[in-house]
Amino acid sequence: MEARIKELRAEIDRINRELLLLLSERGRIAAEIGRIQTELGLPHYDPVREAEMLDDLTRENPGPFPSETIKRLFKEIFKASLALEEAEDQKVFLYSRKAHPEPTVVEAGPATIGGEKPVLVAGPCSIESEEQIEQTAAFLAERGVKVLRGGAYKPRTSPYAFQGLGRRGLELGAAAARRHGMAFVTEVMDTRDVEPVAEYADILQVGARNMQNFALLREVGRSGRPVFLKRGMSATVEEWFYAAEYILAQGNGQVVLVERGIRTFERWTRNTLDLQAAVLAKQETHLPVIVDVTHAAGRTDLLAPMARAALAAGVDGVHVEVHPNPLVALSDNQQQLDFPGFERFLEAIRDLL
Ligand code: PEP
Ligand code: MN
Repeated sequence: MEARIKELRAEIDRINRELLLLLSERGRIAAEIGRIQTELGLPHYDPVREAEMLDDLTRENPGPFPSETIKRLFKEIFKASLALEEAEDQKVFLYSRKAHPEPTVVEAGPATIGGEKPVLVAGPCSIESEEQIEQTAAFLAERGVKVLRGGAYKPRTSPYAFQGLGRRGLELGAAAARRHGMAFVTEVMDTRDVEPVAEYADILQVGARNMQNFALLREVGRSGRPVFLKRGMSATVEEWFYAAEYILAQGNGQVVLVERGIRTFERWTRNTLDLQAAVLAKQETHLPVIVDVTHAAGRTDLLAPMARAALAAGVDGVHVEVHPNPLVALSDNQQQLDFPGFERFLEAIRDLL
């Protein structure tokens, strides 16, 4: 009897090996189909085809396994094959390090982002007047800041809050940056504004609230200008990368990923800085990554420690809001640094710059 069991087990081993070879062959063929579908831009998952295959298998099931068991087993095989097909897609993403092993260096006017040295992006939340932006630009340029930020079109939660100076803000921001040898970055919210904003700004910012505004992503992709892509406040890392892909797919390779905190249950801070996402972005993509500590924390006392943590984690720069008189700022007045505050911030991170 025991000899018989041994004999049958040898049979099972042989069948296992055959099944393994058949599964591998099936996997290779599925991957080949996946490659063709990717090239043609076709989806990999085809529920009708899966249902047909399951119908065929149930009809031809000779037993002893009940049809439900056969279905369950084959569904696992289908799932594994689909994963192989999707893995083929991963290889061709333009954001991926696999597609582009060398890190991308973004040249924006006089600023280099993603080069040897981390970059500082600073300026007021909103451009409010010529005096305000001029004073800020002069102060920051003297301290080595190469990128001046300032909103002209502001995404405000309330439609009755200050919405920015619009085109006048663009003129003031661009002029101040030019006078002080800085690059100018400002947010664009509407596809209709991409052209005028690109005329004045060295870098276009897509804000957190617009990260999945696909028409806007395409349009900034076509502008040919470097883009700061903020992570949406509830966006997964994958969604953030896909958003970057929209811009890259338009032939614009000058994309900088900006982690700015995500919304969590925490209330002591405006958002929660997701440093893991910033590090993942460095590992998985070839794009420069900047951490916006201001919008993440929403308070000034956390800016220096968070900037230190981000720089120690290897990001390409930090983004911080600075205003000559934050208490009277027309937007984000709780979180902007005043000039002495920025001096202290700079001192606290200097050894990492
Ligand atoms: C900003 O940078 O001024 C801004 C509105 O940021 P976010 O889109 O990250 O909220
Ligand atoms: Mn702001």
